[in-house]
Amino acid sequence: MRRPMVAGNWKMHGTRASVAELINGLRDLALPSGVEVAVFPPLLHISQVVDGLKGKSISVGAQNSAVESGQGALTGEVSPSQLVDAGCSLVLVGHSERRQLMGEQDGVLIRKFAAAQASGLVPVLCIGETLEQREAGKTLEVVSQQLGSIIDELGVGAFAKAVIAYEPVWAIGTGLTASPQQAQDVHAAIRAQLAAENSEVAQGVRLLYGGSVKAANAVELFGMPDIDGGLIGGASLNADEFGAIIRAAGN
Ligand code: PEP
Repeated sequence: MRRPMVAGNWKMHGTRASVAELINGLRDLALPSGVEVAVFPPLLHISQVVDGLKGKSISVGAQNSAVESGQGALTGEVSPSQLVDAGCSLVLVGHSERRQLMGEQDGVLIRKFAAAQASGLVPVLCIGETLEQREAGKTLEVVSQQLGSIIDELGVGAFAKAVIAYEPVWAIGTGLTASPQQAQDVHAAIRAQLAAENSEVAQGVRLLYGGSVKAANAVELFGMPDIDGGLIGGASLNADEFGAIIRAAGN
């Protein structure tokens, strides 16, 4: 039985004051025990969030980390070991905004994924197709290639301690959501790709859906058999809305 997970990606949003308010809102939420909850604040606010959420069952993760797990001469980067030291347990790898805007490609993402695991962080690998790719009928090919690049290099066993988020690029921050069936079809293909190598890993790994998830569409999405929760962007900045999405995963 996979434990559902709902994670909030705060992206580049927040000031110390607004983050303090969000922490208060999160602290007030009654969380269903069956759902794992995580937030990914901007790097600058990680310590504030770790301190502010002490005693609350919400994990904290980073939105990005370096290609090396230890410390070193890498100006501007933060290593997975430093994130662990700061209280993080998770890290996003390959969010589409980083793939598209920062030019992160498979080679770098494989290194980031491996470095994160070497430090004990759980990587949340984000994969998904653009609108152009979907319209060209290439969704499964694209997603399979993004997943396959990690499997080929690190082995399917790497997913025994990882989470996968399917996030169609055309649904991120656009208000467009994949229909529950569209999302389920891709999730089933992802699980089948893993199962072809190792069925135990495939059955155990959590597959989150991301892309304009709100309280209003979460129940239907999370009701699909291969959708184990969500990676939530915009809606995670509002504690009440985020709480309603968490409850939807608990149903
Ligand atoms: C995201 O950035 O991972 C995301 C899913 O964003 P949104 O929910 O705002 O579409």
